[in-house]
Amino acid sequence: MNCSFSLEHYAELLEVVREGGYRYSFFDHEPESGDLLLRHDVDLSLDAALRLAELEAQAGAAATYFLMTQSVFYNLASPEGLRAINRLRELGHAVGLHAVWPGAELDERFDPVVAWHNPNPDYMSEPLDGVVNVMQAPFFDSNHYRSDSNQHWRYGCPHEALAAAEFEWLQLLTHPEIWVYPGSTMRETMNAMLDAERERRLELLADDRIDLS
Ligand SMILES: [Zn+2]
Ligand SMILES: [Zn+2]
Repeated sequence: MNCSFSLEHYAELLEVVREGGYRYSFFDHEPESGDLLLRHDVDLSLDAALRLAELEAQAGAAATYFLMTQSVFYNLASPEGLRAINRLRELGHAVGLHAVWPGAELDERFDPVVAWHNPNPDYMSEPLDGVVNVMQAPFFDSNHYRSDSNQHWRYGCPHEALAAAEFEWLQLLTHPEIWVYPGSTMRETMNAMLDAERERRLELLADDRIDLS
């Protein structure tokens, strides 16, 4: 297997989750043996989130998508944002808040679960009132956690360990943009995302009655 950050390898990861006998779980109960908590922090692109969400649904996978209300890169209150939430729900995924410290106000759009965006260590694992913080015990411990941060697996790609069911349970954090847009480095991937974003924004400008003739 080629451990690229691509949709092809993402589909292979879902395949080995199945081989390992894991079941997809949400953050609505404490992790149990066999649980695979598939988590996506949506930092940059709702488009990328939806593409991954469709692929997962086709593979019988369910994830929790953490969406931002204070993103610099997308507007969850826009028609595009509302459509994204509705589609994620239709596909059977859960939706949590990707919060910017210290604001963690949840409204009816979200399940009661929060993942902090770029958290500092001092509050990262602190429990919250009436809401699950994904980095609090027992949902997080370093032996049951893998993340693709900046297109880099600190302990290597987890596909072999998943196929062999080496994790008793796992919280697997991936960022949709990294898998949807091509590039062998984060810089290349971000440039590919910005190229796609330019095309998308040109369409939005036309929709907004801007004369592009
Ligand atoms: Zn791999
Ligand atoms: Zn984030």
